[in-house]
Formats: sequence, C-alpha cells, structure tokens
Amino acid sequence: MQRASFFIVLLFTGTLLAAEPSSPKMTVVFVIDQLSAEYLEKLRPLLKGGIATMWQNGVEYTNAFYDASPPSTAHGHALLTTGTYGALHGIVGNSWRTKDLGLVECDDDSAEQAAVFAPKGALCSYGKSAKNMLVDNLSDQLKLHSYPHARNTVWSLSLKSRAAILMGGKMGSPVWFNNEERQYTSSKAYFKKMPQWITEVNEKLALDRQEKITWKPLYPLCGPMYAFDNASDYLFARVKKPLINSTHDLSTKKAFNRIYGKSPQATADFFTLAKACINANYKEEQNERFILWLNLASLDKVAHSFGPYSKEALDTLYHMDHQMGLFIKEIYKKVPKEDVLFVLTGDHGGQPIPEIINQKGYTAARRYYAPTILENLNKLVEEKYGIKKLVRFFSSSQFFLDMTRLTDLKKNLTKAIMGTMKEHLVSLPGIRKAWTFDELQKTIFEKYDLDSRIKKELYPGRSGHLFYSTDPYTALYGNKKGGVHSTQYAYDTRVPLIFYQAGRFKPRRIHTTRYITQVSPTLAALLNVPRPSAAVARVLPELLP
Ligand SMILES: [Zn+2]
Repeated sequence: MQRASFFIVLLFTGTLLAAEPSSPKMTVVFVIDQLSAEYLEKLRPLLKGGIATMWQNGVEYTNAFYDASPPSTAHGHALLTTGTYGALHGIVGNSWRTKDLGLVECDDDSAEQAAVFAPKGALCSYGKSAKNMLVDNLSDQLKLHSYPHARNTVWSLSLKSRAAILMGGKMGSPVWFNNEERQYTSSKAYFKKMPQWITEVNEKLALDRQEKITWKPLYPLCGPMYAFDNASDYLFARVKKPLINSTHDLSTKKAFNRIYGKSPQATADFFTLAKACINANYKEEQNERFILWLNLASLDKVAHSFGPYSKEALDTLYHMDHQMGLFIKEIYKKVPKEDVLFVLTGDHGGQPIPEIINQKGYTAARRYYAPTILENLNKLVEEKYGIKKLVRFFSSSQFFLDMTRLTDLKKNLTKAIMGTMKEHLVSLPGIRKAWTFDELQKTIFEKYDLDSRIKKELYPGRSGHLFYSTDPYTALYGNKKGGVHSTQYAYDTRVPLIFYQAGRFKPRRIHTTRYITQVSPTLAALLNVPRPSAAVARVLPELLP
C-alpha cells in the first residue's frame, strides 16, 4: 500500500526520483608512478587491459593537473590524499635537509615507535611512518569515521615506502617493499607485528631466494606496439644495455636493486600482494567499505633510467595495463560490478629526454648537470666574497645552503651574495627566474603564472634556500643521462584521471581543466566521510553535481 502511494506521488509530480547511490563497497585507486597524461594520448589505441577498461567505461578527465611543483612521488601522493599543498602538508619532496643539512626521508620516524619489520619477527634499526605529514589525509578520515555498523578498512600498497605511507596516512595500513630484505613489510607505527598474510606472500614470492630474472616483453618486440621514435635509442639512457628481452642475475644486492623494481615481474608480484590483501582483509558484510590504494612504481624507475619513450617504459605500461585488467576481473568475481569504484591517476608526469627533444627540432630543450652548476655557484661566491662551499646540496628546482656561513654577515652582504648567485643562474639559457626562499614566499603571482606552483610547495625548515624556474623542456639533472620530473609544466604535472563505477557514472571524456586537489574531497563525498581537514578544492562537479 505504502509502495503504491509512493509511485502515485511520483507519477503525480511527473518526476522520477533517483535513489541516492550508496557508497561503493570497494574502492581501488591505482596510482601509476610517473604516468604522464601524454602516455594515454600516445598509447590509447594500443592498450587492451585495465587502463582500457577504465577509459572506455569511466569518466575520464583529459586535463587533470597537479598545480604544485616540483613534482615528486612523495609530494604527489601527499597532495592526492590530503587535497592540499606542501605549504600545509609539509611533504615538500621525497627527502629534504634539516637546518644543519642532515638528510631526512619524508617517511623517516624513530625505531622506538615505528620500527620496520625485518624477516623472522626481527625489527630493523630504523622506523617509518607518516609522522612528517602534518595534516590528515583521506585514509585518516576513513578510519576516524569507521564505526561498528559501518566499518572502513584502508590498505595502501607500493614498492616504495613513501608512496604506501603517504597514501595510508597515520591511520591506514601501508605495506611496501624492502629491497634490503627482499620482502614486503610495514612498521610498528601501524601494526604490533607483521600481519600474517604479508609473511605468507613473502614466502610465496620467495624473492630472497630468486637468482635470476627474465624481462619478457608482453608483445613481439618487432611489432607495432613498440614502433615509436627513439624507442630503441640507448644513447641517453642511464643503462647502456637493454633490460628488456633478456635474463639478469639477481644474486648480488646491487643487481637486485638495479633490476627487480623495474621488471615486469615486480608488477606481477605486486598484484599477487594486492590480491592477497583483498582475500585476507575484505569482509563481505553489508556495511563494510574497503579502500585499497595501489601505487604501481615500476614505470617511474624505468623512465628515470631509460626515458619515457623507451621500449622499456612502453613495455612496463603494457604489463601494468595487462595486470590491472586481470586484477579488475578478479575483483568482479568477489564483488558485484556496481559496488566497485576504480580510480586511475598518476602521482606526477615526466620530462622527455631533452637531447631527444632537441634532436627532434625543439632546440631550446636543455639538460644542465646540477653538480656542475652547484660547483660554479660555489666558485663564484668564493672568488667574490671569500666564502667557501656555501652551496651544499641540489634537489629538484632548489639549492640548500650552509646558512651558518652567512650568520655573522651584515644583511646587505648576504643580499649581495644571494644576488650574485641568482644573477648567475638566470644568465644560463633556459633558466628564467631565481629567488631566495623569502622572496619566493613573498611574491604575488599573476593567475596565469605557473611559477606560483613552486610557491605552493614552500615549507620553512624543509624547503631549500635558493630556487629557480626554467623554460619548458629545460631542467637541472642530478645525472648526465636518463629522465627526470622537476618542473611546473604540463608534461610534468598533467596526469590521467579516470573514475569508473559500473552503472553509476555515464562514460564520458571531460576536457575542462581540473586539479588533483579535487580528488580526495570527491572521494570523501562518494564514500560519505568528511573531506581531509586541509583540502583546498571543491569536489569534481561532473561526479557529484
Ligand atoms: Zn620519479
């Protein structure tokens, strides 16, 4: 009776009220490390696996940006999950220097409270956690708003500790790969002891006993899948010999570190871990919500060594696409399609090898070798002011100085020294501007000025002392060969962004500019939890009108 009158009301008003869609039971966020949006534009017709499933059926944003710079794995994952910038979350890079110039990894913590698990119940002498991330992220919100009648389970997995930890926040459950021990692990900041299912995965993978590894390409190497300009060009690669299509020794620590993380096997092993995570932790109860963050790290490692145009990078993406496809099918066996939300994005893009861009005819592309520039800055300051070794470290787009050498100097002299260094930097073709930390922090930028993206990542005591910005396709490199990501430009900051939940969103492509800061507030709204406290952006209007 009640039901009938409800329909009568509907008919009477002439409106069909859509039921409020419930939040997905399972959410899987794929974050491919260094997945520039340019890959999808180039490879779209060639992708046949999970990435293809996502762009064929999902809502795809073709102009999604990280509007902060310099791009890095740590900064990207922190921005993605907190919805804000380094100036607030404090993760200004993968690592930084303290006042006394000591190196801090972004996920460092003390062994007392956050010791990393070693094999056989032992503990490492160092600790890891999200202590250095100064705001809560979406994982924290999901855990803070998890109740007995509506439980949220949050796991974050990666080959890299920083990616797993910054996705997991302080309250999620991160798992990462420890190269030293050749096993997946976590820390006491998250668990009293290593969860049994992780130990079982390590036993199954038996990486500590593996002596050789073979990189088999997914498709015939001579076929169209690899027929791109410079795909076989090893002239500017950090590794002289191809890794693809050959077998490599893994017996030494050095060889293992050099090869395993880049190999397609690492991606396959990673999905073994992801499947085991779901099997061990996903409960089917009505109000359970399971959130799985997956950082696929190999593409970044490969593109740093070989560049984004290489056969190795293409094949890595094909393997990832293939593995993602199998993984999606596996999930659908467990959870009804309409109950699963998949998200695909990258943590940053990547710069094409400048020498190759140059050869193609864009002759303004330049690689500067950062250690040489650092040395030249020091020479200049020593010659002019008699101060030795003022500039100590380079990290993308910034230099760290030994400020104790300037403490007793008059303000004007310090200003003159900084001025001399800035003058030198901007005298180099392709370097446009240079600032001290204070100058950059005080600069009011025009809305169109992409240099404002550098300012958003400033955090006192963590950021460097001397900054610069370059023209597109010019960068300072820590290496004479290979690839990098370090600028505010589109190739480094534009990434794919796709949301796919069967029956919920109409498949379409949106070309309007959107920002990755919008992702965590959007996911919070879709999952019906409060947005991260410091998130700055509005939800994506196409998904939550
Ligand atoms: Zn990288």
